[in-house]
Formats: sequence, C-alpha cells, structure tokens
Amino acid sequence: MSNNGYSIIDHTYDVVVVGAGGAGLRATMGLAAAGLKTACITKVFPTRSHTVAAQGGIGAALGNMAEDRWEWHMYDTVKGSDWLGDQDAIEYMCRQAVPAVLELEHFGVPFSRTADGKIYQRPFGGHMRNYGEAPVQRACAAADRTGHAILHTLYQQALKNHAEFFVEYFAIDLMMDDSGACRGVVAWNLDDGTIHRFQAQTTVLATGGYGRAYFSCTSAHTCTGDGNAMVLRAGLPVQDHEFIQFHPTGIYGSGCLITEGARGEGGYLTNSEGERFMERYAPTAKDLASRDVVSRSMTIEIRDGRGVGAERDHILLHLEHLGAEVLLQRLPGITETARIFSGVDATKEPIPVLPTVHYNMGGIPTNHHGEALNPSDKDPDAICPGLMAVGECGSASVHGANRLGTNSLLDLVVFGRAAALRCADKLKPGASLPPLPKDASDLALSRIDRLRHAKGGRPTADIRLEMQRNMQVNAAVFRTQEVLAEGCAKIDQVWDSLGDIRLSDRSMIWNSDLVEALELENLMACAKTSLYSAEARKESRGAHAREDFPDRDDETWMKHSLAWMDGQGTVTLTYRPVHAFTLTNEAEYIKPQTRVY
Ligand SMILES: Cc1cc2nc3c(=O)[nH]c(=O)nc-3n(C[C@H](O)[C@H](O)[C@H](O)COP(=O)(O)OP(=O)(O)OC[C@H]3O[C@@H](n4cnc5c(N)ncnc54)[C@H](O)[C@@H]3O)c2cc1C
Repeated sequence: MSNNGYSIIDHTYDVVVVGAGGAGLRATMGLAAAGLKTACITKVFPTRSHTVAAQGGIGAALGNMAEDRWEWHMYDTVKGSDWLGDQDAIEYMCRQAVPAVLELEHFGVPFSRTADGKIYQRPFGGHMRNYGEAPVQRACAAADRTGHAILHTLYQQALKNHAEFFVEYFAIDLMMDDSGACRGVVAWNLDDGTIHRFQAQTTVLATGGYGRAYFSCTSAHTCTGDGNAMVLRAGLPVQDHEFIQFHPTGIYGSGCLITEGARGEGGYLTNSEGERFMERYAPTAKDLASRDVVSRSMTIEIRDGRGVGAERDHILLHLEHLGAEVLLQRLPGITETARIFSGVDATKEPIPVLPTVHYNMGGIPTNHHGEALNPSDKDPDAICPGLMAVGECGSASVHGANRLGTNSLLDLVVFGRAAALRCADKLKPGASLPPLPKDASDLALSRIDRLRHAKGGRPTADIRLEMQRNMQVNAAVFRTQEVLAEGCAKIDQVWDSLGDIRLSDRSMIWNSDLVEALELENLMACAKTSLYSAEARKESRGAHAREDFPDRDDETWMKHSLAWMDGQGTVTLTYRPVHAFTLTNEAEYIKPQTRVY
C-alpha cells in the first residue's frame, strides 16, 4: 500500500509493545509465554535500552541479610512518595517484589551472593527496618551492574518465548479510533525508510523517561519521552510531570551516575569544611536519606558557600576508606566511571559530585494492571481501551512525588508482568481486528512530512539546547513562582520556534536529523507539561520543593496533576484524587505524617 508517496506495510498482532527496556521486555516475554502473538518495537537494540545502565539494585524484602517485611517496604515507599503514591499500587508492588526477584533469579540473573549462597542485598536511601527505625539491606544487587544483568536475561527470555522484535523501528504516533480506543501504532523502519502500521488488540507503551529535557542528566540520549508525548497527541493526559528526581551523586561536569549503592556500602558526603553535613539534615538515615532530601541538603550547602572546588560549586563523595578490595568486588563499574569521567582514583581520593536529573516520577497514568487511564470528573479511574503503559513512562503511581532507589527496576518487572497477566486474562489469542479507520496514520505521516520538508532558520540542536537550558534553570531542585512563571513563558517561546526548525536531510533512510527532530518535539511536550504542572502546584512535596510554599498541603494538594495538551501546544490542567486506600485488607492505609529521616 502507498500513501503520500510512503511505502506502508501493515502488520497485525494480538499485542504490540513499544520499548525493549526492562519494562517492555518483561511485558513482551510474559505476553509471548501466554500464547499471544506479540511484537516488540524498539528504536535501539534491546540491550542498549537505558535499563542497561542501572547500577545499584532492585528492591525486595527478601530478608537475606536481616529481618525484613514487605509491609516495611510499603511504608518506606509511601513515605518516600510523600503521600502522593497510590497505596493500592504500592501494596501490589511491594508484595510482588519478593516473587518477582526470585523469578528473575530463576530466569538466570547472575546476582551477587552472600557467603551462604543467597542473593546479596545492600542498604539504599529511604529503605528502613521497622517503619523508619534504621537502614535495612533490601537492594538485591549484581555488583553495580544490576540493570545490565536483568536486561540481558529478560531479552533472552523474550527470544526463548518467540516474541518478534522490530529493532531500530521508531514509533511515531498511536492510532486511535473515533470511540477513543487505541488501535495500534505507526512506526518508521530506520534501516530502509518504510512506514509500518502495527494494528493490535492492545498497545503497551514502555518507552522510558525524558531526562534529556534537561541539560545535565544521568539518562541515555534515547530518553526523550516519546510515549508520554504520543499520549498527549492522542488527546490523553500525562500525570505528575512536575515531579522530577535529582540524583545526589552525578559526577561533577559529565553528569554520569555514581550509584546510591556507593553510600549503601558506606560512602559519605562532605562539604568544603570536611564536615559530614548529612548528619545535620537527617540524623537517623544520614547519607541514606531519601534522594530529594539529600539533593536539597547538598544544594543548600553549596548555596551557603560550603561547596568545594575553585567555584565552590560541588560536593565530595568519599569511598576511599572502604578499601580497594571492597570497591573492586562491590562497585567495580563506578570505580571505572570515576576514573574515566573525573580522573579520580576512588580507592585513594573522593569523587566530585552534584545533584543531577535522574528520573521522572510522573508519566502516563495507569491502574495497577498497567491499563492507561482516560480520567474524567465523573470517573477519575476510567481506562482508555486498548492502551497500557509500564516502566518509567507510566505512572501507576508507586513513586508519587519521589522515588526510592531500587524501586524503578522493581516497578519494571512487577508492572511489566502485571500488564502481561492482564492481557492473558482479557484477550483472546488471534481474535479478529476491526478495520482501521481511514485516517489512522494521518497524524504520524503529517508529522514526518512537515519535519522532512522544514526549511526554517534553526537546526534541531539549537532549539533543543535552548529548551534544555530553560529546564535546567527554571525547573531545578528549588523552585519559586517567579522562576517557574518565567520558565513557562520561555518554554512557550521555544515551542513556537519549532515552527522555524530546519532539516538538511530529506531522506527516509537512516536520517538521524529526522529522528532528533521527532524526539525534540516529544521532549518539548514533556518539558512544557512539567513546567506548567510545577507552576500550578503551590506546595512542597517530594521532589517538588517550592521556596515560596515550603510546606506540604494535604488539604488542597494531595492529588495527582493531569496535564493535557492540544495541537497548538496549549496546556490544560485537571486533577485526580490519590488512591488513599489499599488493595487488600491485609495492608493498612498509611496516614500522612511529617516526613523526617
Ligand atoms: C544511570 C542510571 C542508573 C539507574 N540505576 C537504577 C538502579 O540501580 N535501580 C533502580 O531501580 N533504578 C535505577 N535507575 C532507573 C531505571 O534504570 C529506569 O527508570 C528504568 O531502567 C527505565 O526502564 P524502562 O524499561 O521504562 O525504559 P528504558 O530502559 O529507558 O527503555 C526504553 C525503551 O523504549 C524504546 N523506545 C523509546 N522511544 C521509542 C520510540 N519512539 N520508538 C521505538 N522504541 C522506543 C527504547 O528503544 C528502549 O528500548 C537508573 C537510571 C539511570 C539513568
């Protein structure tokens, strides 16, 4: 079939998964194992997905090192989320964590081991024993390459179950019908320039985060929020985009991550006076307080003139006291990263670090089965038929206003599996699909057409840099009304300059110019909804720290932000209630408390 001069190839599947990171692969293998004809589309080779870079561990209350319970994990996650997380989904995740990690072990993930052969677990920020008493060892680790180990294992499992992969296919937009249901996705094969329509009973988005909206982040260049933006263009909302996590220990200058597992193994931070300042901010958890707390404390130290270096603009992370043997056994990857990216021998001297953008708590709203929501006032939990979202692009919401370390890898496997189980339960393998609406691929094709022939004055990289600088300055660790309002005004201007974009390469084959322009449009939609949601939220909660509204305001703001965007880029905000209830009566609802570590 031919359309606008494009050669279009049609496919039908029971389920199509977009993304082959941890979430996409766990969903894909589960779907294929359930006998559903499954396609997995990915813009990079599966084992190059950002999950491969995850270092520190995956959280589960296995209790291999000392007593632990899923109820404590649930309490820590609710507290970490600053009471914005949905407690039914959190209960589901923390209970499923134990079988999920054991399942990974049986799939073949090479976890590090204790002397008696059990999975090794290390402490991590915000994970405590007995409802906040003292740090507990809950992060299951494969040295400091946990994501690498998990991703490779899941890819092998997906292949074993005969899932079909479409590698280096770039998904452009969803196909929706008049009833508001999702009917599949349009993708571009980068290798030969053909356009492919994947029609399916269900489409699962697993496209990862949008760290690259910022100038400095720990995320891969592929983390461009493609799924979130596709949902916005389909007329559906994104949730809680204002909550963006800064990881305390990005390497100063490059932004590369030094895992929190480094502090879990006994590392600590100091200021220019050599003081272990976290003892002042978090007397119990100290360097293992939650990430938002540590990032804010570091920022205050630097602002108050106690930063290190010529510009007094960063902090030091000490690992040298742990000794070369422990570092080489437990943290070999970060020892190498420190050498390459800061020229430091971590066995002898401290590593210069700075809070760096790391994770998006918000995303496509879903229930605990991974089904995407199309909320209305009448039914805030209404689902969008045929669409699911899992992993960092989704918002179940288990991370609320701030994610605990190790809970993302957990989220990937628990909700990737949940989505597969839901499809196995609801879909009939091989069920016939109704014909696609005539205009199903118009949105995708018109975007490609417009960008390929764009002859404006500004290259993609130029506009992208302006957007990234704006986010870096105007949606930072600390926020005020003035800075956020300025950020909104600026992002509107940068958005408008998309009309002035210039692409030099018109071909459809390996056109990296076109890939980057499509990604920029996606990033821009994410940046815009983040800034507008942040400007509107007049309180401080988790990663959203307003200097002009320093307190959490549960009465007005214990609710999820929903941001919608029209074709002109105008953002509208609505809200939906937090699930202040549990899934089963085996867990008690955890009432809001003051959050101290
Ligand atoms: C450096 C680093 C270290 C981390 N360490 C930890 C840790 O120790 N523990 C923890 O719990 N969390 C950690 N995290 C967070 C966690 O790794 C991520 O949140 C998680 O891996 C995201 O997985 P995902 O499957 O959602 O997406 P990703 O792994 O980012 O994969 C996204 C997939 O979507 C595909 N895709 C995207 N857009 C398109 C498109 N348009 N068309 C086709 N395909 C597309 C990509 O090809 C890719 O396959 C870390 C994150 C970073 C950046």
